[in-house]
Amino acid sequence: MADTEPALCRSCGHDGLQTFLSLGKTPLADALVTEEQLTEEEAVFPLDVAFCPECALVQILGDVPPEMLFVDNYLYFSSFSDHLLAHSRDHALGLIERLDLGPDSLVVEIASNDGYLLRNFVEHGIPVLGIEPAPDQADAAETAGIPTRREFFGIELARELVESGQKADVIIANNVMAHVPDLNGFVAGMAHLLEDDGVITVENPSVDELVERCAFDTIYHEHHCYFSCLSVSALAARHGLSLNRVDSFPDLHGGTLRWSLGKKHEPHVSVARHVDAETEAGVGGYAYYEHFADEVNRVERDLRALLEGLKADGATIAAYGAAAKGATLVNVVGIGTDLVDFVVDRNTHKQGRYMPGTHLPIRPVEALLEEQPDYVLLLAWNFAEEIRNQQAEYERRGGRFIVPVPTPEVLS
Ligand SMILES: [Zn+2]
Repeated sequence: MADTEPALCRSCGHDGLQTFLSLGKTPLADALVTEEQLTEEEAVFPLDVAFCPECALVQILGDVPPEMLFVDNYLYFSSFSDHLLAHSRDHALGLIERLDLGPDSLVVEIASNDGYLLRNFVEHGIPVLGIEPAPDQADAAETAGIPTRREFFGIELARELVESGQKADVIIANNVMAHVPDLNGFVAGMAHLLEDDGVITVENPSVDELVERCAFDTIYHEHHCYFSCLSVSALAARHGLSLNRVDSFPDLHGGTLRWSLGKKHEPHVSVARHVDAETEAGVGGYAYYEHFADEVNRVERDLRALLEGLKADGATIAAYGAAAKGATLVNVVGIGTDLVDFVVDRNTHKQGRYMPGTHLPIRPVEALLEEQPDYVLLLAWNFAEEIRNQQAEYERRGGRFIVPVPTPEVLS
């Protein structure tokens, strides 16, 4: 898109988007760098965030060429997180009971990854279909007995499934709707595929949790949109869907909401409760986001000062979590090998590579006990409790963790 064209809202098409935050030009957050690529120049793209006064959707401006996205995005296996597995199991068992699912039902999951969630339905004899374009994850799912379509989901695939006689009683879309370039095509596809009495559940980190936690590191090019109950409700209504229930999971991915949508208008009390709370907090107005931008600038400044101070005192610092949010944080704040020696990650697919932009090397988590750095910056702060439990020995030997947001501080 040329700079001179006004950006249109990805949801409602409004042409008066209001920009509130610019995080500079950063490389794609998932584009980990190999040893051979270290000397090559990396592509960088502006990261500007805007609010739609018409439908309340928060979104990034500009488009990265789609062929550049998802290229190296295939390194995330859901089954690496214990917390996520437990959360998914609870969700599946809850749906089976609430909707009385059985051998005649069909559960479709979009972005089904390695089958971490659908396997809970398979165990109960409930037919499932996974939709997952990432080849390694789709392979892992098929091996686990999860039928998987290796495609991106949209209205075309929905039409094809319906024509072949498949309609879904449940459609689950966790942490995918923010990644979709064609938001309306995606929701139209879900509506088309859904049985009249079916239920869609969509989970995403909510924009008010993002603001409250100052989680600017969850803003990156692969995340086109940042949702609230207000914006989801408007988006769903455009496709004949009603927001019927809202569940909140404050400890998942830094504060996740689950929106349940259906073709019948039968809102649970949780909908009004959440919408009212959002309205009261100001989620539907520009000023809320303007204030957030000031907070982001404060965290950037304070985190840099904290790390530079520790370094000046002779401390060694490592980091934990080579995920996209970690890459965003180190690039926006400007944390290179002058401050942090290396990043550790449990994901074996990432080890041996380098963070995009700042080129921090990625090592196995065992490196924390081998090197015993004085401090570890928790880039994966959303898994702080899980990581501290796993790394109790590191802390016992005197190591200290640093959380970057909402206020940079050393954990005691
Ligand atoms: Zn809009």
